[in-house]
Amino acid sequence: LIERPVGVVIDGHLQLGLELVISDGVIAEIRPHTGLPEPYILSAAFVNTHSHLEYRGMEGQFHSEDYFDWIREITVAKVGQSPEQVREDCLLAAKENFATGVRRIGEHSDRPFAAEALSSVGIDGIIFQELITFFEQADAATKIDQVQSLAALQRETFGGAVALALHTAYTVDRETLAFFGGREGTFSIHVAESRYENEFFRSGTGPIADFYSRNGVPFVVTGGSVVELLRDLGLVRPSVQFVHCCDLSSSDIEILASGSVPVAHCPRSNVRLKCPPAPVREMLDAGLKVGLGMDSAASSGPIDMFAEMRSALEVSAHRGRPLLPEEVWRMATVMGDASLPLSVDRPKWDIYVGSRTPLIKMALPGAQSVEDLIAKGEPGLLN
Ligand SMILES: [Zn+2]
Repeated sequence: LIERPVGVVIDGHLQLGLELVISDGVIAEIRPHTGLPEPYILSAAFVNTHSHLEYRGMEGQFHSEDYFDWIREITVAKVGQSPEQVREDCLLAAKENFATGVRRIGEHSDRPFAAEALSSVGIDGIIFQELITFFEQADAATKIDQVQSLAALQRETFGGAVALALHTAYTVDRETLAFFGGREGTFSIHVAESRYENEFFRSGTGPIADFYSRNGVPFVVTGGSVVELLRDLGLVRPSVQFVHCCDLSSSDIEILASGSVPVAHCPRSNVRLKCPPAPVREMLDAGLKVGLGMDSAASSGPIDMFAEMRSALEVSAHRGRPLLPEEVWRMATVMGDASLPLSVDRPKWDIYVGSRTPLIKMALPGAQSVEDLIAKGEPGLLN
């Protein structure tokens, strides 16, 4: 089989005039055109490094401006959902991920329906089953067992990996965080999404502290950042994905770099929830692997990787520390995959001789650069 597109994106760079020879699903040769090209651009498929499929039905439903009010809205809305509804939402979100070119995912699930949805459309990766112990601090073991059972259910139907998500450093009790920090394993955790998190750990004030007080849950102020706490608990390491990382200091970034922590960046969600713009330029310069995540449709809007890439460029430009389009494409493909805490010896997610990476075709034959692809791309142009 010969794929003869106008151009091929390799390692985030659009190269015109190349064709691929593919044999048994493996790229056997990459060579200059030997005939007239067809009007499309070829790339490695996208990797969505942070997702919540189950909130698809809540797209555009919540209107709170403040981060914490918004979280409360979603928590209330979840209670009224039937399992059938959640299942349908997962399937729709999985289909839309596929339609926007995603073939690998880092999915956070509270309910157990993502596995069958992802498997049915052909997306692999890792599902993180969500653990929260805020109201179960006295008996976290029972809650952990329940979540492990849900993870086991997902494992039955998912072709990829299944692990635990430690929801955040303030919704999982410290003993449980220390327990998982002290043993091997793969995890994902939301970190420093809003400014409230560091405020809570540093000084015991703000909306998170109020939430603890209102519910009569005791807490200990650490006096340091959330990243410092997670380091001290043994969770700053390559097998723990940190999601968001908006409110980071330069010393936090050094800590993440020293532990080779992989990061998921979700710019549209961060903008919607008025989180600080994540210091992605600085994280990349520090050598961190940063992937792009579409988070949930409830905060990010339509499931569209091109929109997410445009947002990553806009946010970085707006904060005066711009990312290059090529870097953002890498975050959505080869680096995004490398950022997922999957087996370390898996093949690179890119186009090269010997690669089996799933490919996507974009009907954007006039594109001269990756910048053009990001500017004009949309799910409807993919097949
Ligand atoms: Zn999330």
